[in-house]
Amino acid sequence: MKLRILSGVDIKALLPMAACIDLMRTTMIAVSEGRVRVPPRTVLPVSSGGMLGNMPGYLAEPKCFGVKLLSLFPGNPAAGLSSHLGLVLLFEPKHGLPVAMLDAAELTAIRTAAVSGLATQLLARQDAGDLAILGAGEQARSHLEAMLSVRALRRVRIWSRNAAHAEAFAAEARERHGLRIEVAASAEAAVDGADLICTVTGSSEPILRGDWIAPGAHLNVVGASRIAAAEIDTAAVVKSRVFVDFRQSAELEAGELRRALDAGAITPDHVLGEIGEVAKGSVAGRRAPEDVTLFKSLGIAPEDLASAHYVLQRAEAEGVGQVVEL
Ligand code: NDP
Repeated sequence: MKLRILSGVDIKALLPMAACIDLMRTTMIAVSEGRVRVPPRTVLPVSSGGMLGNMPGYLAEPKCFGVKLLSLFPGNPAAGLSSHLGLVLLFEPKHGLPVAMLDAAELTAIRTAAVSGLATQLLARQDAGDLAILGAGEQARSHLEAMLSVRALRRVRIWSRNAAHAEAFAAEARERHGLRIEVAASAEAAVDGADLICTVTGSSEPILRGDWIAPGAHLNVVGASRIAAAEIDTAAVVKSRVFVDFRQSAELEAGELRRALDAGAITPDHVLGEIGEVAKGSVAGRRAPEDVTLFKSLGIAPEDLASAHYVLQRAEAEGVGQVVEL
Protein backbone atom coordinates (compact mmCIF):
# COMPACT_ATOMS: atom_id res chain seq x y z
CA MET A 1 0.00 0.00 0.00
CA LYS A 2 1.33 3.39 -0.99
CA LEU A 3 0.28 6.51 0.87
CA ARG A 4 1.06 10.04 -0.36
CA ILE A 5 1.73 12.59 2.37
CA LEU A 6 0.98 16.22 1.50
CA SER A 7 2.07 19.15 3.62
CA GLY A 8 0.44 22.53 4.09
CA VAL A 9 2.96 24.01 1.64
CA ASP A 10 2.04 21.38 -0.97
CA ILE A 11 -1.66 22.07 -0.47
CA LYS A 12 -1.22 25.82 -0.78
CA ALA A 13 0.58 25.34 -4.09
CA LEU A 14 -1.88 22.79 -5.50
CA LEU A 15 -5.20 24.28 -4.35
CA PRO A 16 -5.48 27.90 -5.53
CA MET A 17 -8.46 29.76 -4.10
CA ALA A 18 -10.22 30.31 -7.45
CA ALA A 19 -10.00 26.60 -8.30
CA CYS A 20 -11.26 25.66 -4.85
CA ILE A 21 -14.27 27.99 -5.20
CA ASP A 22 -15.20 26.21 -8.47
CA LEU A 23 -14.68 22.85 -6.80
CA MET A 24 -16.90 23.86 -3.88
CA ARG A 25 -19.67 24.80 -6.32
CA THR A 26 -19.91 21.21 -7.64
CA THR A 27 -19.36 19.79 -4.16
CA MET A 28 -22.11 21.81 -2.50
CA ILE A 29 -24.52 20.96 -5.33
CA ALA A 30 -23.70 17.27 -4.73
CA VAL A 31 -24.36 17.79 -1.01
CA SER A 32 -27.78 19.31 -1.74
CA GLU A 33 -28.60 16.54 -4.22
CA GLY A 34 -27.86 13.89 -1.59
CA ARG A 35 -24.88 12.45 -3.48
CA VAL A 36 -22.80 12.39 -0.29
CA ARG A 37 -22.97 10.62 3.05
CA VAL A 38 -22.23 12.83 6.03
CA PRO A 39 -22.94 11.59 9.53
CA PRO A 40 -22.88 14.24 12.25
CA ARG A 41 -19.33 15.00 13.39
CA THR A 42 -18.29 14.09 16.90
CA VAL A 43 -16.27 16.36 19.17
CA LEU A 44 -14.46 14.79 22.09
CA PRO A 45 -13.12 17.00 24.90
CA VAL A 46 -9.48 16.14 25.60
CA SER A 47 -6.71 17.78 27.62
CA SER A 48 -5.99 21.53 28.21
CA GLY A 49 -9.44 22.66 27.05
CA GLY A 50 -8.77 21.04 23.69
CA MET A 51 -11.10 18.95 21.56
CA LEU A 52 -10.75 16.17 19.02
CA GLY A 53 -13.14 16.47 16.09
CA ASN A 54 -13.94 13.47 13.90
CA MET A 55 -15.52 14.22 10.51
CA PRO A 56 -16.09 11.19 8.26
CA GLY A 57 -17.74 11.31 4.85
CA TYR A 58 -18.35 9.64 1.51
CA LEU A 59 -18.63 11.26 -1.93
CA ALA A 60 -20.24 9.64 -4.97
CA GLU A 61 -18.48 12.01 -7.42
CA PRO A 62 -15.50 11.91 -7.38
CA LYS A 63 -15.96 8.56 -5.68
CA CYS A 64 -13.91 8.55 -2.50
CA PHE A 65 -14.28 8.51 1.24
CA GLY A 66 -12.31 9.46 4.27
CA VAL A 67 -12.15 11.36 7.47
CA LYS A 68 -10.81 14.61 8.86
CA LEU A 69 -9.39 14.33 12.35
CA LEU A 70 -8.85 17.72 13.87
CA SER A 71 -7.61 18.84 17.24
CA LEU A 72 -8.90 22.24 18.37
CA PHE A 73 -6.77 23.86 21.04
CA PRO A 74 -7.89 27.47 21.62
CA GLY A 75 -4.61 28.47 23.29
CA ASN A 76 -2.51 27.41 20.29
CA PRO A 77 -2.31 30.74 18.39
CA ALA A 78 -0.65 32.35 21.44
CA ALA A 79 1.98 29.59 21.23
CA GLY A 80 2.53 30.25 17.53
CA LEU A 81 0.52 27.21 16.43
CA SER A 82 -2.66 26.86 14.43
CA SER A 83 -5.87 26.51 16.45
CA HIS A 84 -6.92 23.68 14.09
CA LEU A 85 -4.36 20.88 13.70
CA GLY A 86 -4.84 17.50 12.19
CA LEU A 87 -5.07 15.26 9.19
CA VAL A 88 -7.35 14.41 6.34
CA LEU A 89 -7.15 10.73 5.42
CA LEU A 90 -8.41 9.89 1.94
CA PHE A 91 -9.36 6.36 0.80
CA GLU A 92 -9.97 5.03 -2.73
CA PRO A 93 -13.35 3.43 -3.42
CA LYS A 94 -12.41 0.13 -5.12
CA HIS A 95 -10.64 -1.72 -2.32
CA GLY A 96 -10.83 0.87 0.44
CA LEU A 97 -7.10 1.56 0.41
CA PRO A 98 -5.89 4.69 2.19
CA VAL A 99 -4.21 6.75 -0.55
CA ALA A 100 -3.34 10.11 0.98
CA MET A 101 -2.75 11.90 4.24
CA LEU A 102 -2.94 15.69 4.11
CA ASP A 103 -2.35 18.56 6.52
CA ALA A 104 -5.81 19.55 7.75
CA ALA A 105 -4.97 23.10 8.87
CA GLU A 106 -4.19 24.48 5.40
CA LEU A 107 -6.91 22.44 3.72
CA THR A 108 -9.48 23.71 6.23
CA ALA A 109 -8.35 27.31 5.85
CA ILE A 110 -8.70 27.19 2.05
CA ARG A 111 -11.87 25.11 1.69
CA THR A 112 -13.82 27.07 4.33
CA ALA A 113 -13.02 30.39 2.69
CA ALA A 114 -13.76 28.91 -0.74
CA VAL A 115 -17.28 27.96 0.36
CA SER A 116 -17.76 31.52 1.65
CA GLY A 117 -16.39 32.71 -1.70
CA LEU A 118 -19.02 30.62 -3.46
CA ALA A 119 -21.77 31.99 -1.19
CA THR A 120 -20.56 35.54 -1.89
CA GLN A 121 -20.49 34.90 -5.64
CA LEU A 122 -24.09 33.67 -5.45
CA LEU A 123 -25.62 36.04 -2.89
CA ALA A 124 -23.72 39.33 -2.70
CA ARG A 125 -24.61 42.27 -4.91
CA GLN A 126 -22.54 42.36 -8.08
CA ASP A 127 -21.24 45.81 -7.06
CA ALA A 128 -20.38 44.77 -3.49
CA GLY A 129 -16.81 45.72 -2.65
CA ASP A 130 -16.71 47.29 0.81
CA LEU A 131 -15.44 44.42 2.95
CA ALA A 132 -15.34 44.13 6.74
CA ILE A 133 -13.57 41.20 8.35
CA LEU A 134 -14.18 40.56 12.05
CA GLY A 135 -11.35 38.40 13.40
CA ALA A 136 -7.72 38.35 12.33
CA GLY A 137 -6.66 34.70 12.42
CA GLU A 138 -6.18 32.04 9.76
CA GLN A 139 -9.73 32.19 8.46
CA ALA A 140 -9.45 35.97 8.16
CA ARG A 141 -6.39 35.47 5.94
CA SER A 142 -8.05 32.93 3.66
CA HIS A 143 -11.35 34.84 3.60
CA LEU A 144 -9.61 37.97 2.34
CA GLU A 145 -8.21 35.86 -0.50
CA ALA A 146 -11.63 34.39 -1.26
CA MET A 147 -13.34 37.80 -1.27
CA LEU A 148 -10.63 39.14 -3.59
CA SER A 149 -11.37 36.21 -5.93
CA VAL A 150 -15.08 36.93 -6.28
CA ARG A 151 -15.58 40.70 -6.02
CA ALA A 152 -13.63 43.86 -6.90
CA LEU A 153 -12.84 45.25 -3.44
CA ARG A 154 -12.72 49.03 -3.11
CA ARG A 155 -12.35 49.18 0.68
CA VAL A 156 -11.26 46.66 3.34
CA ARG A 157 -11.60 47.10 7.09
CA ILE A 158 -10.53 44.67 9.77
CA TRP A 159 -11.35 44.46 13.45
CA SER A 160 -10.02 42.03 16.01
CA ARG A 161 -10.32 41.73 19.81
CA ASN A 162 -6.59 42.30 20.05
CA ALA A 163 -5.80 45.41 17.98
CA ALA A 164 -2.17 44.33 17.53
CA HIS A 165 -3.38 41.23 15.69
CA ALA A 166 -5.50 43.36 13.37
CA GLU A 167 -2.50 45.64 12.72
CA ALA A 168 -0.29 42.62 11.94
CA PHE A 169 -2.97 41.24 9.61
CA ALA A 170 -3.20 44.56 7.77
CA ALA A 171 0.59 44.74 7.38
CA GLU A 172 0.76 41.18 6.05
CA ALA A 173 -2.10 41.77 3.61
CA ARG A 174 -0.41 44.95 2.37
CA GLU A 175 2.71 42.90 1.71
CA ARG A 176 0.92 39.97 0.09
CA HIS A 177 -1.85 41.64 -1.90
CA GLY A 178 -0.67 45.26 -2.13
CA LEU A 179 -3.88 46.30 -0.39
CA ARG A 180 -4.44 49.12 2.06
CA ILE A 181 -6.45 47.75 4.95
CA GLU A 182 -7.99 49.96 7.61
CA VAL A 183 -7.85 48.74 11.20
CA ALA A 184 -11.17 49.58 12.82
CA ALA A 185 -11.46 50.55 16.48
CA SER A 186 -14.61 48.47 16.96
CA ALA A 187 -16.65 45.83 15.18
CA GLU A 188 -19.37 48.46 14.72
CA ALA A 189 -16.94 50.85 13.02
CA ALA A 190 -15.64 48.03 10.82
CA VAL A 191 -19.07 47.11 9.42
CA ASP A 192 -20.48 50.64 9.12
CA GLY A 193 -21.76 50.82 5.53
CA ALA A 194 -19.99 47.57 4.52
CA ASP A 195 -21.65 45.41 1.87
CA LEU A 196 -19.52 42.31 2.50
CA ILE A 197 -19.02 41.08 6.08
CA CYS A 198 -17.09 37.99 7.17
CA THR A 199 -17.25 36.96 10.83
CA VAL A 200 -14.31 34.65 11.50
CA THR A 201 -13.71 34.84 15.24
CA GLY A 202 -13.56 32.24 17.97
CA SER A 203 -16.13 34.17 19.97
CA SER A 204 -19.03 32.28 21.49
CA GLU A 205 -21.07 35.46 22.10
CA PRO A 206 -22.24 37.94 19.45
CA ILE A 207 -19.64 40.39 18.18
CA LEU A 208 -21.96 41.69 15.44
CA ARG A 209 -25.38 43.27 15.95
CA GLY A 210 -28.17 43.38 13.41
CA ASP A 211 -28.73 47.12 13.75
CA TRP A 212 -25.15 47.78 12.58
CA ILE A 213 -25.69 45.99 9.26
CA ALA A 214 -26.40 48.17 6.20
CA PRO A 215 -29.18 47.30 3.74
CA GLY A 216 -27.87 45.22 0.85
CA ALA A 217 -25.02 43.60 2.78
CA HIS A 218 -23.98 39.98 2.42
CA LEU A 219 -22.66 38.15 5.50
CA ASN A 220 -20.51 35.04 5.74
CA VAL A 221 -20.92 33.85 9.34
CA VAL A 222 -18.17 31.30 9.86
CA GLY A 223 -16.62 31.41 13.30
CA ALA A 224 -19.08 29.70 15.65
CA SER A 225 -19.39 25.98 15.00
CA ARG A 226 -21.09 24.83 18.21
CA ILE A 227 -24.76 25.00 19.14
CA ALA A 228 -23.86 26.92 22.32
CA ALA A 229 -21.94 29.63 20.43
CA ALA A 230 -23.20 32.58 18.37
CA GLU A 231 -21.10 35.26 16.66
CA ILE A 232 -24.05 37.41 15.56
CA ASP A 233 -27.19 38.40 17.42
CA THR A 234 -30.78 37.39 16.75
CA ALA A 235 -31.61 40.75 15.13
CA ALA A 236 -28.99 40.02 12.45
CA VAL A 237 -30.57 36.63 11.74
CA VAL A 238 -34.08 38.08 11.65
CA LYS A 239 -33.25 40.79 9.10
CA SER A 240 -31.46 38.39 6.73
CA ARG A 241 -32.32 35.93 3.99
CA VAL A 242 -30.55 32.93 5.54
CA PHE A 243 -28.76 30.09 3.73
CA VAL A 244 -26.68 27.26 5.20
CA ASP A 245 -24.11 24.75 3.97
CA PHE A 246 -26.01 21.65 5.13
CA ARG A 247 -29.39 21.65 6.83
CA GLN A 248 -28.67 18.73 9.17
CA SER A 249 -25.51 20.41 10.51
CA ALA A 250 -27.32 23.72 10.85
CA GLU A 251 -29.99 22.07 12.99
CA LEU A 252 -27.38 20.46 15.22
CA GLU A 253 -24.65 23.10 15.34
CA ALA A 254 -25.76 26.60 14.27
CA GLY A 255 -25.93 28.53 17.55
CA GLU A 256 -27.13 31.76 15.91
CA LEU A 257 -30.12 30.00 14.37
CA ARG A 258 -30.86 28.04 17.55
CA ARG A 259 -30.96 31.24 19.65
CA ALA A 260 -33.27 32.96 17.17
CA LEU A 261 -35.58 29.92 17.09
CA ASP A 262 -35.60 29.57 20.88
CA ALA A 263 -36.45 33.26 21.23
CA GLY A 264 -39.41 32.76 18.88
CA ALA A 265 -37.89 35.41 16.58
CA ILE A 266 -37.86 33.06 13.56
CA THR A 267 -39.49 29.80 12.50
CA PRO A 268 -37.56 26.92 10.87
CA ASP A 269 -38.61 28.11 7.39
CA HIS A 270 -36.49 31.25 7.94
CA VAL A 271 -33.64 29.08 6.64
CA LEU A 272 -34.37 29.36 2.95
CA GLY A 273 -32.06 26.67 1.68
CA GLU A 274 -28.60 25.25 1.25
CA ILE A 275 -25.96 27.06 -0.74
CA GLY A 276 -25.87 24.08 -3.14
CA GLU A 277 -29.56 24.68 -3.90
CA VAL A 278 -28.85 28.32 -4.68
CA ALA A 279 -25.94 27.22 -6.91
CA LYS A 280 -28.25 24.83 -8.75
CA GLY A 281 -30.91 27.48 -9.15
CA SER A 282 -33.59 25.55 -7.26
CA VAL A 283 -33.76 28.13 -4.44
CA ALA A 284 -33.74 31.90 -4.97
CA GLY A 285 -30.83 33.78 -3.39
CA ARG A 286 -30.87 37.59 -3.36
CA ARG A 287 -34.12 39.08 -4.66
CA ALA A 288 -33.47 42.81 -4.26
CA PRO A 289 -30.45 45.11 -3.91
CA GLU A 290 -31.47 46.06 -0.36
CA ASP A 291 -31.84 42.43 0.85
CA VAL A 292 -29.41 41.37 3.55
CA THR A 293 -28.17 37.86 2.75
CA LEU A 294 -26.52 35.58 5.27
CA PHE A 295 -24.56 32.41 4.70
CA LYS A 296 -24.08 30.34 7.85
CA SER A 297 -21.04 28.09 7.45
CA LEU A 298 -20.36 25.14 9.71
CA GLY A 299 -18.05 23.10 7.52
CA ILE A 300 -18.71 19.52 6.41
CA ALA A 301 -16.54 16.56 5.44
CA PRO A 302 -17.40 16.60 1.69
CA GLU A 303 -15.62 19.97 1.45
CA ASP A 304 -12.47 18.34 2.86
CA LEU A 305 -12.72 15.17 0.80
CA ALA A 306 -13.35 16.91 -2.52
CA SER A 307 -10.42 19.27 -1.81
CA ALA A 308 -8.16 16.39 -0.76
CA HIS A 309 -9.09 14.41 -3.88
CA TYR A 310 -8.32 17.42 -6.10
CA VAL A 311 -4.98 18.02 -4.38
CA LEU A 312 -4.06 14.33 -4.67
CA GLN A 313 -4.82 14.24 -8.41
CA ARG A 314 -2.54 17.20 -8.98
CA ALA A 315 0.15 15.88 -6.64
CA GLU A 316 0.24 12.55 -8.49
CA ALA A 317 0.45 14.31 -11.86
CA GLU A 318 3.20 16.67 -10.70
CA GLY A 319 5.11 14.28 -8.42
CA VAL A 320 4.51 16.39 -5.31
CA GLY A 321 4.59 15.04 -1.75
CA GLN A 322 6.22 12.11 -0.05
CA VAL A 323 5.13 8.57 -0.89
CA VAL A 324 5.54 5.96 1.85
CA GLU A 325 4.94 2.21 1.74
CA LEU A 326 2.68 1.13 4.56
P1 NDP B 1 -7.59 31.60 14.84
O1 NDP B 1 -7.31 31.05 16.17
O2 NDP B 1 -6.52 31.67 13.83
O3 NDP B 1 -8.22 33.07 14.98
C1 NDP B 1 -9.25 33.29 15.91
C2 NDP B 1 -9.71 34.72 15.81
O4 NDP B 1 -10.85 34.84 16.66
C3 NDP B 1 -8.70 35.71 16.27
O5 NDP B 1 -8.78 36.85 15.44
C4 NDP B 1 -9.15 36.07 17.69
O6 NDP B 1 -8.91 37.41 18.02
C5 NDP B 1 -10.64 35.92 17.57
N1 NDP B 1 -11.27 35.57 18.84
C6 NDP B 1 -11.06 34.46 19.58
N2 NDP B 1 -11.86 34.49 20.66
C7 NDP B 1 -12.57 35.63 20.59
C8 NDP B 1 -13.55 36.23 21.42
N3 NDP B 1 -13.96 35.64 22.54
N4 NDP B 1 -14.07 37.43 21.04
C9 NDP B 1 -13.66 38.03 19.90
N5 NDP B 1 -12.73 37.51 19.09
C10 NDP B 1 -12.19 36.33 19.44
O7 NDP B 1 -8.81 30.73 14.29
P2 NDP B 1 -9.28 30.50 12.78
O8 NDP B 1 -9.15 31.76 12.05
O9 NDP B 1 -8.66 29.28 12.26
O10 NDP B 1 -10.83 30.17 13.03
C11 NDP B 1 -11.74 31.20 13.40
C12 NDP B 1 -13.06 30.58 13.79
O11 NDP B 1 -13.62 29.89 12.65
C13 NDP B 1 -12.96 29.52 14.89
O12 NDP B 1 -14.01 29.67 15.80
C14 NDP B 1 -13.11 28.21 14.16
O13 NDP B 1 -13.67 27.18 14.96
C15 NDP B 1 -14.03 28.59 13.02
N6 NDP B 1 -13.91 27.73 11.86
C16 NDP B 1 -15.04 27.46 11.12
C17 NDP B 1 -14.96 26.65 10.02
C18 NDP B 1 -16.17 26.39 9.19
O14 NDP B 1 -16.12 25.55 8.31
N7 NDP B 1 -17.26 27.11 9.40
C19 NDP B 1 -13.70 26.00 9.63
C20 NDP B 1 -12.57 26.41 10.41
C21 NDP B 1 -12.68 27.24 11.48
P3 NDP B 1 -7.51 37.96 18.61
O15 NDP B 1 -6.43 37.26 17.83
O16 NDP B 1 -7.56 39.40 18.33
O17 NDP B 1 -7.53 37.60 20.04
